[in-house]
Amino acid sequence: SKVPTITLNNGVRMPQLGFGVWQVPDDEAEKAVGSALGAGYRSIDTAAVYGNEAGTGRAIAASGIAREELFVTTKLWNSDHGYDATLRAFDASLDKLGLDHVDLYLIHWPVPARDTYVETYKAFEKLLEDGRTRAIGVSNFLPAHLDRLLGETSVVPAVNQIELHPQLQQAESRAVHAAHGIATEAWSPLGQGKGLLEVPTIAAVARKHDRTPAQIVLRWHLQLGNVVIPKSVTPSRIEENIDVFDFELDDEDLGAIAALDEGRRLGSDPAEMNVV
Ligand code: NAD
Repeated sequence: SKVPTITLNNGVRMPQLGFGVWQVPDDEAEKAVGSALGAGYRSIDTAAVYGNEAGTGRAIAASGIAREELFVTTKLWNSDHGYDATLRAFDASLDKLGLDHVDLYLIHWPVPARDTYVETYKAFEKLLEDGRTRAIGVSNFLPAHLDRLLGETSVVPAVNQIELHPQLQQAESRAVHAAHGIATEAWSPLGQGKGLLEVPTIAAVARKHDRTPAQIVLRWHLQLGNVVIPKSVTPSRIEENIDVFDFELDDEDLGAIAALDEGRRLGSDPAEMNVV
């Protein structure tokens, strides 16, 4: 594939760019993931709560691509926190995907009000030990949640998947991750396509490189070292979003984009997201 890999802290290699399927209904997921695999994506990011693990699995099976060339991530939903519930939820996810292992399993949110993410993570360690997932990690963990995991469990998370885009650059989390060897994976890397792609600075850099705003934003992530998982169901955009490995932003471009940080969240604040 044309996508470079990064090496996670346990030696497993993960494509630096993958395909996200949030808000894609199950019956459309099969088609969208099929388009992505056809365009050269080899990493797919789904979650139990997205309701499209089955469609994702059907697209994987239909692709005929060797399993070892693929990198499949899914996530444990908030209502399934707890040691035993996690093991059951993992089995259900694998069943829907039609796979015998995943590559990365993430705790979707810390749900601090439940205070169950430590025991949940201990079940993740068991799944890792049993070879049912090649790597384990978290999503939406703030530095305080990571500190607690690092103090009370044995396996350093391979990944923390957090909201990250030019208007929410997450410098503190990125520094904490780097200090512990945790890869930073950016969700809503394109700012959900809402507004960010029309920001004049992004448009100007796009004109300079004769690229689209989405390609500029993805290139910014890649040069920062983030893993990215842009989502689209439009085949031309799916292709556009992976066509970002033959140009580079220069220091001037990176400086201009650095100035766009407003600390603006599009999604929930992990400290307060306690929905089950
Ligand atoms: P995104 O930033 O990837 O934006 C997707 C939207 O941007 C599309 O729906 C489309 O409207 C637009 N778009 C995409 N490509 C474009 C292009 N080339 N040109 C113009 N517009 C384009 O948003 P997202 O789906 O929220 O995030 C990506 C993935 O991150 C999700 O699918 C999911 O896998 C993951 N995610 C995880 C969490 C979490 O809590 N862990 C939360 C949100 C998303």
